[in-house]
Amino acid sequence: MTILADVAAKTRVVIVGGGVLGTMHAVEARQRGFEVVQLEREAEARGASVRNFGLVWVSGRQAGPELGLALRARELWSELGARVPGLGFRAAGSLTLATSDAELALLKEAVTRPDADQRGFELLDAAAVRAVNPALRGEFAGGLHCRLDAIVEPRQVLPALRVHLAGDGYQWLPGREVTEIAPNAVRDHTGAWHQCDLVILCPGAAHTGIAGRYLARSGGVRRVRLQMMQTAPLAGRVTTALADGDSLRYYPAFDLPGRDRLAPQPGVAARARAQLLLVQRADGGLTIGDTHEYAEPFAFDVDEDAYDHLRGRAEALLGVPLPRVQRRWAGVYSEVEPAVPGDGRARVLYHRAEVEPGVVLVTGPGGRGMTCSPAIAEETFR
Ligand SMILES: Cc1cc2nc3c(=O)[nH]c(=O)nc-3n(C[C@H](O)[C@H](O)[C@H](O)COP(=O)(O)OP(=O)(O)OC[C@H]3O[C@@H](n4cnc5c(N)ncnc54)[C@H](O)[C@@H]3O)c2cc1C
Repeated sequence: MTILADVAAKTRVVIVGGGVLGTMHAVEARQRGFEVVQLEREAEARGASVRNFGLVWVSGRQAGPELGLALRARELWSELGARVPGLGFRAAGSLTLATSDAELALLKEAVTRPDADQRGFELLDAAAVRAVNPALRGEFAGGLHCRLDAIVEPRQVLPALRVHLAGDGYQWLPGREVTEIAPNAVRDHTGAWHQCDLVILCPGAAHTGIAGRYLARSGGVRRVRLQMMQTAPLAGRVTTALADGDSLRYYPAFDLPGRDRLAPQPGVAARARAQLLLVQRADGGLTIGDTHEYAEPFAFDVDEDAYDHLRGRAEALLGVPLPRVQRRWAGVYSEVEPAVPGDGRARVLYHRAEVEPGVVLVTGPGGRGMTCSPAIAEETFR
């Protein structure tokens, strides 16, 4: 055994949180030869990581570090997808569809971005859109094809990665809530201490639990609630992920002069801060969302007006009635607060801090967390 391998074999990492951030840290730690113990308070993770679209979304990222992180993550997802077929990784690409002249003009601006090639952007007219995705039989003026966007199956990713990790050197401990933190150690609710060389806390949107006192001190993270739904299987394939013109309002890549010329959103969509994103699941069902709620306390129920709006947008683009909605849910993610121009704060993409000696807290990746998780884990160990 070389000295390096010997050091690796003796390094023990405890990860708190069984969501995608925690699990990608487990993958990265095992790749480095470290011993990993991963604790999750639930019997199975049920937070944002299983409630999302499974979009590995490069298209909308801000130029610079955010795009760099997403591109690196996209490479890592692709490599992992080849090794772990259970992730359901597919390089399906996406289409962002314009239904008005102003939206189309903004897409035209987007393809002239200096980084358009890096994102795999191509502007398509309506006929070319239908050639790429024949399921689109509705009304639209054209679309932005992003070849780099990809899809994974969020309900499969975590168990599939754990099967991949299973064996000597990896221990999965579900049903263990961490209640105490000390240098290089955590204690779970059964009273058991877990000592190690490095603790990585990935508690997601649990801003008041073990991470509470650290986040209260540092500030700078907030929670965001989204509404989602999933239909019964649709006959026929939707070959790409889909976004409507409202998504141009939210993603920083489209913060271009033409954005100011977009017509106001319909009232219900503006109130819910809705954009249509649609992904066909491996079983044919359609995952459809989303909305954005920022002010707490969040609603405890889901709002049907927002669903009516999203269903209407999806049916208008697909040109067929949607299959029956089988599931509705809401999800909450943790997000670093966007920097306000002039407040002197650097824009960060997620929150990472050494909160005690040998204890690192990682959360707050926001709506890009599924996409960027493998690259965030890589950065933690780097
Ligand atoms: C509806 C929705 C759609 C989204 N769509 C996308 C998308 O398509 N693409 C994308 O890139 N991102 C998307 N996101 C964002 C993405 O899902 C999140 O950023 C990401 O899943 C966060 O992962 P996480 O592991 O930090 O959090 P979580 O998934 O919330 O996991 C945290 C885990 O820690 C556990 N935990 C907390 N405290 C303790 C404790 N004390 N002891 C033990 N365990 C603990 C929790 O039980 C939980 O399982 C979406 C989010 C939502 C809500």
